[in-house]
Amino acid sequence: MRQLIAGNWKMNGLGAQLGEIESIAANAPAHADLLICPPATLIARAAEAAKGRIAIGGQDCHAEISGAFTGDVSAEMLKDAGARFVIVGHSERRQYHGESDAAVAAKATAAWRADLTAIICVGETEAEREAGRALDVVGVQLAGSVPSGAPIEATVVAYEPVWAIGTGKVPTNGDIVQMHGHIRARLVAQLGEGARKVPILYGGSVKPSNAAEILALAEVGGALVGGASLKAADFGAIFSAARKD
Ligand code: PEP
Repeated sequence: MRQLIAGNWKMNGLGAQLGEIESIAANAPAHADLLICPPATLIARAAEAAKGRIAIGGQDCHAEISGAFTGDVSAEMLKDAGARFVIVGHSERRQYHGESDAAVAAKATAAWRADLTAIICVGETEAEREAGRALDVVGVQLAGSVPSGAPIEATVVAYEPVWAIGTGKVPTNGDIVQMHGHIRARLVAQLGEGARKVPILYGGSVKPSNAAEILALAEVGGALVGGASLKAADFGAIFSAARKD
């Protein structure tokens, strides 16, 4: 399965940074799929700059199509602007906006309604890992955030341990393999055998120096990259490390 290397720009990026997207698109490899999720204000221009060579996505969407939800953006609006993917349930949304598993599931359903691929994020906190609860916590998040009947071809899951995001800390290879295997088993239990095709991305302090090692691990279908996706050179070093099989 081709790996998906996705960049999450978070609340970073002005028009001046579109050159990074042009450069990423110009150097897109043949052996992996690339995605950049810039802030909503840049999606339309990013889609133009990408010239169809890489995909562009949103970082969040509202569950409704339209209405009195000041400041929110619907999945249909993202699609209309040129997005093909949307991240839902990122830990920063869960933490700072109080998004529950049910809210994340509603957003994933909205993404599919708008013909977007949903990247559903899950991951435990440091305290939960230290308490030996990481597998259970992620299992509960999957049960609540991945709706039954999820379309396999439009579903991606990202495992992002909260304590690894933006911290430089990364789980051991053994912990990543164990968690990705657990997620695969849970997805198959929830969605059936077809769920073996759902890519499971790893996210959390992926950088040029550790990308090859992480991307080579069993059941790692790609990476969700925050800080190191902002510069084409760093992101290039990461996507070049994608598996070629
Ligand atoms: C993220 O925000 O999804 C992320 C993985 O960030 P970073 O790569 O900076 O840890």
